[in-house]
Amino acid sequence: MRTVITGGAGFIGSHLSDYLLAAGDEVTVFDDLSTGTLENLTEAFKNPNFNFVEGTVLDKQALTDVIAGADRVFHLAAAVGVQLIVEQPLVSLRTNIHGTENVLDAVKAAGAKLLLASTSEVYGKNSADALSEDSDRILGDALKSRWTYAAAKGIDEAFAHAYWNEYGVPVSIVRLFNTVGPRQTGRYGMVVPNLIGQALNNQPLTVFGDGEQTRCFSYVADVVPALVALVENSRSYGQAYNLGGAQEISIRALGEQIIERTGSRSSIELVPYEQAYAPGYEDMRRRVPDNTKANQLIGFIPQTNVEKIIDFVAEDLRSRGALDGRLMGRPGAMAGAAAGA
Ligand code: UDP
Repeated sequence: MRTVITGGAGFIGSHLSDYLLAAGDEVTVFDDLSTGTLENLTEAFKNPNFNFVEGTVLDKQALTDVIAGADRVFHLAAAVGVQLIVEQPLVSLRTNIHGTENVLDAVKAAGAKLLLASTSEVYGKNSADALSEDSDRILGDALKSRWTYAAAKGIDEAFAHAYWNEYGVPVSIVRLFNTVGPRQTGRYGMVVPNLIGQALNNQPLTVFGDGEQTRCFSYVADVVPALVALVENSRSYGQAYNLGGAQEISIRALGEQIIERTGSRSSIELVPYEQAYAPGYEDMRRRVPDNTKANQLIGFIPQTNVEKIIDFVAEDLRSRGALDGRLMGRPGAMAGAAAGA
């Protein structure tokens, strides 16, 4: 099987690449290295079936050349992380909208199958007990970057859906809910590597707001096989599937568990949202997936609990910290990041 992964040097893409290489695929990663790194592909580069092409999904010709001859494509290249989105809204919009349209055209020309990575951000502020795929999307001001991003990902999904309906391009859509694990960087504001990095450095854990907001973290090794199972199941084409964790946890409780499990001397520091981001920033109070649809089609059941996730991420950060002397991204990286967000 010849597989192309856009954004394959990133956190999720590099795990997917390792997984598919182990299964015997020929894997080509196409990545502009804007947020991904070659370090993430250290294992992949040792495999003769692996190929890396540096390029952006905005370069239609390069993308078409890479995808020609592929059997399946995983489109993970995107501007990700709240911080990046609010700091660089234009490039985020272009990458997420034009880039996806370019990928769909290239996949259509190649006669390949496609997995489109979308996000739980599309549900916006809907804080229902469990968000199912047809739940309402509740978005704020279209000019605020967070909602612009949510809108752009929604447009991506609509493009994918239309390519399936009108051209018969086999495309499955996944909405990822706070996927975490080794190789994820705290540099773009992601809470798990950020807080674990702080704990390992015995610095205060910056918990934003009152810390009572909740998330359901899913482990990357649980999610990756589901991406493959979905794209290989023709009943998934033209459909969206939630992939999230099973355990709802507040950010404050997450911080407390991180301190306990890493044996850190840190304490929790509640940082007001205005200080963490910028005035007017809106956080999601709660985001809980209903995974029933993916469970019914491919048997998706998230296996890894928060304790194990903390242990695996801490182990990864420790080993990388020992390698390059840095345990995390920029301390206080979110401060002032969200003008207009
Ligand atoms: N968060 C936090 N401290 C940090 C980074 C994030 O308290 O250092 C909070 C953030 O405000 C949000 C939650 O953790 O309520 C999850 O943030 P993340 O950016 O990881 O994901 P998302 O907001 O997209 O769910």
